[in-house]
Amino acid sequence: MTPEIRKPPAPVALLGIPWDRHSLHARGPAGAPLEIRKALAVDSGNWINSRFQDLRDPALMIDAGDVGFDDEAGESVCVSRAVTALLDRGHPVLSLGGDHAATYPIVRAYSARHSGMAIVHIDAHPDLHDSFQGDPLSHASPFARIMERGLSPRLMQIGIRASDDHQRRQAARFGVETFGPDEVGEAIARLPAGPVYLSIDLDGLDPAFAPGVNHPEPGGLTVREVLAVIAALPGPIIGADIVELSPPRDVNGLTAHVCAKFVKELVGIMRLPGA
Ligand code: MN
Ligand code: MN
Repeated sequence: MTPEIRKPPAPVALLGIPWDRHSLHARGPAGAPLEIRKALAVDSGNWINSRFQDLRDPALMIDAGDVGFDDEAGESVCVSRAVTALLDRGHPVLSLGGDHAATYPIVRAYSARHSGMAIVHIDAHPDLHDSFQGDPLSHASPFARIMERGLSPRLMQIGIRASDDHQRRQAARFGVETFGPDEVGEAIARLPAGPVYLSIDLDGLDPAFAPGVNHPEPGGLTVREVLAVIAALPGPIIGADIVELSPPRDVNGLTAHVCAKFVKELVGIMRLPGA
């Protein structure tokens, strides 16, 4: 019998999603993938993360470019297809939004390949609106679509501080575990044990750390609290997105640099099950 040769895991694929058509209050996040890539490559910084890994190593990370919205099947289908193509080549996908509407088609693609993954979601808002201003695909609705279709058995939300009666009822209906910004420690103690998809909305952070968002909500998480959640996840992070950076609202590229920091730390630890 020939001994089994284990191939090294495929690198994490960065995927830009320049899409903000479902942001009904203000546009801007479509420009975020470019700004995050610029922050990653900036001369004043470097590509090294806290595990001393160099992100320029192609065994660690590749840039899969941006989703092309050229299919008549619709933009949401384009996002799902791009994610599926990368998963089928063995790459864990780290998506750079775009607004939070992107998470539904990403998770749709993920759940078809990796059913049973829990979702950890950092945000000021629960994004559980059944429909927002008549748009069921709005960036305020992705987790309603995900949960009503059973795409994940468990949704944990951290940093929530701007909800309403409707969304609290939706959270109860779907069994969502909700943690406010004062409950990060409690959330860390209850993080899911198995494979996790992580969705980071920049407005989950305090605007002091991440001012470049369209819906700033003071009283949020610190950068270090988000990094602590990432580091504490016991199971593999099989996929992740960083969404809602709005470059026209950013200050000195500060929020783009926060995104780049999250990219650096996530790339070092993301992997698909069995990899
Ligand atoms: Mn959101
Ligand atoms: Mn939000």
